[in-house]
Amino acid sequence: MTKAPKITPMLQQYLEIKEQYQDAILFYRMGDFYEMFFEDAAVASKILGITLTSRNSKDATNKVPMCGIPYHAASGYLAKLVKAGRRVAICEQTENPSEAKGIVRREVVRVVSPGVVVDSGILDDKDNLYVAAICCKGKGNDTLYGISFLDLSTGAFLLGEFLDTTNNGESILDQLTRMTPAELLVNENDLDLIGGLVDTATTLLPGLCVTQRPATQFHFSSCEELLIEHFKVNNLAGFGCNTLKQGVIAAGVLLDYVIETQKSDISHIEKLTPIDLELILQIDDSSRRNLELTQTIIGSQREGSLLSVLDHSCTPMGARMLKQEILFPLQNVERINARLGAVRFLYGHTAIRNTFRELLTTIYDVERLNSRMVLGNGNGRDMLALKQSLAKLPAIRELLLQCDAEHIRKIGEDLDVLADLHQLLENTIHEEAPITLREGRLIKEGYNEELDELMHIQRHGRQLILDLESQERNATGIAKLKVGFNKVFGYFIEVSRLQSANVPDTYIRKQTLVNAERFITPELKEFETKVLGAQDRRLELEYQLFVEIRSQLASESSRLLKSGALLAKTDFLVCLAEVAHLYRYKCPEVNNGDSIDIIEGRHPVIERSLPNGKFVPNDVHLDQETEEVLIITGPNMAGKSTILRQTALIVLMAQMGSFVPAKEASIGVVDRIFTRVGAMDDLRRGQSTFMVEMNETANILNNATEKSLVILDEIGRGTSTFDGLSIAWAVAEDLVQKNNKGVKTLFATHYHELTDLARTEERVRNYSIAVREWNDTIIFLHKLVKGGTNRSYGIQVAGLAGVPERVVRRAGEILKNIEQGEFNHDGTPSIAKSSNPRKPRGKKHPNQLSLFPPAQQDPLRTLLQNISVDDLSPRQALDLIYELMKHL
Ligand code: ADP
Repeated sequence: MTKAPKITPMLQQYLEIKEQYQDAILFYRMGDFYEMFFEDAAVASKILGITLTSRNSKDATNKVPMCGIPYHAASGYLAKLVKAGRRVAICEQTENPSEAKGIVRREVVRVVSPGVVVDSGILDDKDNLYVAAICCKGKGNDTLYGISFLDLSTGAFLLGEFLDTTNNGESILDQLTRMTPAELLVNENDLDLIGGLVDTATTLLPGLCVTQRPATQFHFSSCEELLIEHFKVNNLAGFGCNTLKQGVIAAGVLLDYVIETQKSDISHIEKLTPIDLELILQIDDSSRRNLELTQTIIGSQREGSLLSVLDHSCTPMGARMLKQEILFPLQNVERINARLGAVRFLYGHTAIRNTFRELLTTIYDVERLNSRMVLGNGNGRDMLALKQSLAKLPAIRELLLQCDAEHIRKIGEDLDVLADLHQLLENTIHEEAPITLREGRLIKEGYNEELDELMHIQRHGRQLILDLESQERNATGIAKLKVGFNKVFGYFIEVSRLQSANVPDTYIRKQTLVNAERFITPELKEFETKVLGAQDRRLELEYQLFVEIRSQLASESSRLLKSGALLAKTDFLVCLAEVAHLYRYKCPEVNNGDSIDIIEGRHPVIERSLPNGKFVPNDVHLDQETEEVLIITGPNMAGKSTILRQTALIVLMAQMGSFVPAKEASIGVVDRIFTRVGAMDDLRRGQSTFMVEMNETANILNNATEKSLVILDEIGRGTSTFDGLSIAWAVAEDLVQKNNKGVKTLFATHYHELTDLARTEERVRNYSIAVREWNDTIIFLHKLVKGGTNRSYGIQVAGLAGVPERVVRRAGEILKNIEQGEFNHDGTPSIAKSSNPRKPRGKKHPNQLSLFPPAQQDPLRTLLQNISVDDLSPRQALDLIYELMKHL
């Protein structure tokens, strides 16, 4: 049996602290290192790739596994652990070791978890880092969910409430996948109720850290009270949140968690923002992914997404705002047009735009610098970055006020240039302030008298000694008097034995040498204390002054945040104008009408991957009167998906206030964009192709309104042809008839039969994508033209895709046989070689009968419908029967 290691007082203290932070790795500060012990050491050494050693390594029974990292390099290691989904409790020495009696006092000063991070090494500049909390009330398809998101590094704090009718928490998953939090807080008692939802969330968001919180915290009144107290308000009505009970619980739980883990001021969290779906253009999770708004479907890369094309922002704040606006486009026409007005101005004034860009490029992340000040993490470099940023504000304000666009001028009027804070930093912070806070060079000369004196002493120590020496020589008349220094006595005055009788009474003898006597004086000792203590005192004083300045800035957090938000807005608008200029986008006309009219529209991402001018632009018109559902046919690779997606993207871009890739566009705002694109297994949710397709289709049919835009690509592919076609037909029919008004829909399909729908439904129009046949192959023209097509060119496309020529040729022969109605006895298509053709047996393959012989197309029916029975003579009737028999 192995004996438990002997517990030293230090280990005892470690274990006591660890007891309170069992779910975290404890960074235990010892001198210049953070040490980890026991299980923590084993886990961390693996993740960090550092050596696992042991304390008392020579004593087998008392061995304690440990590993350590130097404190000055902690941030890199911390980042690795947090990115691996671990929580880290940072335990510091909270008293000076030299003053400690026994074991130095230590305390956990903060806990860093994947969602609660302010360390710049871990944060991604261009992305918010959210921690989320959810709670729920009710059961099954009557569950009301509350959800809240907080980005501690910027202070952004959102809350919402969603009724879920799907029984599996889709509405909440939708919010989670939109905001992609790194950590999710849940009620420990709710796990059986929402366990499935949490499982799906962790599959959809790889790396999501789920943290259970005590059930006792999930109470409305205590949560409301906590929020009211934090925001120093009478109630939450001012934030528009008072009626959102579940949302308030989620927000309260979140705030409590942050207070518990940060143990510091979090006053930069200034307001609660309700997530109001009525105000935004809603795009559900699958549509967001399908449209590749912020990342690609394959590989989840930012590169290749709409965001990557649009992101020409100059500041991290602008980049984050751009991403938010892509995820939350607007619905309100006035707000959209106000933005468009601003972008139009900046687009048309290249010189102003360039000056904005020059200024903005030199601005740092004011929002995150501010939170570092409030949380007490800001260092000297942060202060310099802030100073450099604030220095640019007056010029930015002036430029904003010069702009002849209401929306931009308003930003200028609201922008506080924070001259006082800039002045404070200018007066106080050393031009070369380092990252560390204990090594001096933080504070400028001239700010604090005591510090100035200490600096003077340090700098002029040698000269001061020489001055003192000559002063004493003059006073005593001893020309060879010297001031010296040794480690035992410190500073002393040395006089030769001969002269020693001439020293004044104030001299105190300290040491007698063979030829000399050494003395000290009270004045010399005072000087000595100053010189020797100057370094320590200076470092301490600089630190103190620095912390004071940091608190002073923290107390101005609201002003800093407000200016930060206005800078983000400016950068966002300038970025949209720059993109419009770079990629020849045009200003859309946005209105409350019901039609969408795009002239020469392009796909913003695909056009970037093609050589200039190679993308073929297309027109798309949709309205509620005549062209509501467009059925688009054409071979694979013709460009059907591209047209569908570009239409959705153009509408979305217009509604976020951006110019669009088109020659002209007039957009009647839509409330939601739904997409059902491609038949790709959603392995993330472990669902089959067909199931995913039908889920998404159900969602569209249940939730689309007459103000929605629906994009359907190849629906019904995941099942047998007839099933698929029937479903596709019924879905299209339902969409065109929905609420008598129908839903604007683009429907790409390879079922040519669907084109017949246009015969019976007057608001359905057929379009196809043109291809040109050339020898045995085809050329894609990528041009959308009126009218359906009845050819799929599958074999030619197979050839283009590199299927061996012999197979392509053989497929062509088989197709010909099928088209000529050549079948075997069992009804399968004849596969006889064309060089030895069998005689057609005249028997039609059963599958050749169209499942939906539209009324007008069936000759028998047409004949019957055209008969006017009362006008027929008996002879004519008999002839007619013979005629009808011919059509059987
Ligand atoms: P489909 O959905 O009809 O199978 P896609 O829309 O996926 O076809 O288009 C296939 C490829 O054709 C695209 O990846 C793109 O390279 C090219 N393409 C599509 N539309 C255009 C266009 N308008 N101009 C130029 N190339 C296009």
